Amino acid sequence: MKRKIFDEEHEMFRDSVRSFLQKEIQPHSDKWHEQGIVDREAFLKAGEQGLLLMWADEKYGGAGVSDFRYEQILIEENARYGDAGFFMSLHNRLVGPYIGQLGTEEQKERWLPKCVSGEHILAVGITEPGAGSDVASLRTRAEDKGDHYLLNGSKTYISNGILADLVVVVARTNQKSRHGMSLFVVERGMEGFERGRNLKKMGLKSQDTAELFFNNVKVPKENLLGELDRGFYHLMHFLAEERLLGAAGYVATSAAAFDLTMDYIRDRKAFGQTIADFQNSRFQMASMRTEIDVAQAFVDQCVIEHNEGTLSADDAAKAKLFTSEMEGRIVDACVQLHGGAGYMDEYPICRMYLNARISRIYAGSSEVMREIIARSIGLDPRKKKPKPVSNDQAA
Ligand SMILES: Cc1cc2nc3c(=O)[nH]c(=O)nc-3n(C[C@H](O)[C@H](O)[C@H](O)COP(=O)(O)OP(=O)(O)OC[C@H]3O[C@@H](n4cnc5c(N)ncnc54)[C@H](O)[C@@H]3O)c2cc1C
Repeated sequence: MKRKIFDEEHEMFRDSVRSFLQKEIQPHSDKWHEQGIVDREAFLKAGEQGLLLMWADEKYGGAGVSDFRYEQILIEENARYGDAGFFMSLHNRLVGPYIGQLGTEEQKERWLPKCVSGEHILAVGITEPGAGSDVASLRTRAEDKGDHYLLNGSKTYISNGILADLVVVVARTNQKSRHGMSLFVVERGMEGFERGRNLKKMGLKSQDTAELFFNNVKVPKENLLGELDRGFYHLMHFLAEERLLGAAGYVATSAAAFDLTMDYIRDRKAFGQTIADFQNSRFQMASMRTEIDVAQAFVDQCVIEHNEGTLSADDAAKAKLFTSEMEGRIVDACVQLHGGAGYMDEYPICRMYLNARISRIYAGSSEVMREIIARSIGLDPRKKKPKPVSNDQAA
């Protein structure tokens, strides 16, 4: 189905992004996969190309372009021509906006220019060994010590965790309230801030996912981001965009997997015909094409709504839920259509299959998405009215 959300300028941008990724990112993919981390130069090159934090104001070096379609293009092109572990969009639209929207003028001046140039790489630390989906149970804490906060605790599974120069860390600042937490920018080199292992993973091998430790880190008061004790609500505010970022990528990966499988099954022969000629293959491909096109239309509509500021948290959750589940089905079917080749690391579908497994878990698991959607349709047990107590029961 022809997509109608992009205009000529977007398409020109797409062409330039594609050339950039083919030249500067894809050739390093195997090396990064082996070393378990993307080279820092990738961010510097993307910065030179003007692809980082495009929404940032020109006075910070950005382009002042907040249109989400440009980020959508970056994500789509990276899924096909870049490297799945090059988490440019996490830097750009998942973490950057915390500084861009919550930061004071002084903070923006201090941090944004180097984030735009790629000299500073961003990460966000929410998850802890004992707190994932249930963010409110996190235990990392920051105590007010007059001129600084004293930060103690640890985070795990943090994307860009090794590369990051600035980490937006969520810490408890109010022990009395379950949601009493705040956001702090912890900078590379602060005493007591240490990184643990670059964790070995099933997929996304070129992405550094790490543990972070904070042992009596003195975080200056000027590094508090947003309002004290309002961190939980700040996080919630950014979730719709985070889910949309994911959804855009999961449809793009599904479409890329579809295309390379199409090429493969048209070429490969068995029983005197191409694999594509079997009715099973034709039906599988027809079903996949249908799912991808329908999902794309929904995601594109979400992008329009996001640009207009009207995307609801439950629609973003639907987009994330559907596309990540679809991606899982599609990469699995595509591996099957590849036969044994699909199990070989040298075939891109193999890595796509392994990478896709996390899509249903991170940025809010499928179960958490269903919980949000269920509440939005009135199925919220928290809001059940207590039954009136009859005289008999009371007695
Ligand atoms: C590769 C990778 C990168 C990541 N990057 C980051 C990052 O950059 N920053 C960061 O902070 N975190 C990051 N994470 C962490 C990620 O967000 C969490 O793993 C995710 O939120 C799930 O939390 P958990 O692992 O603790 O699972 P749990 O919360 O323990 O969940 C276990 C299972 O229980 C289910 N479950 C939980 N709650 C409910 C419920 N209410 N109803 C029904 N089922 C439920 C879950 O869906 C899941 O199936 C990353 C994780 C990975 C693997």
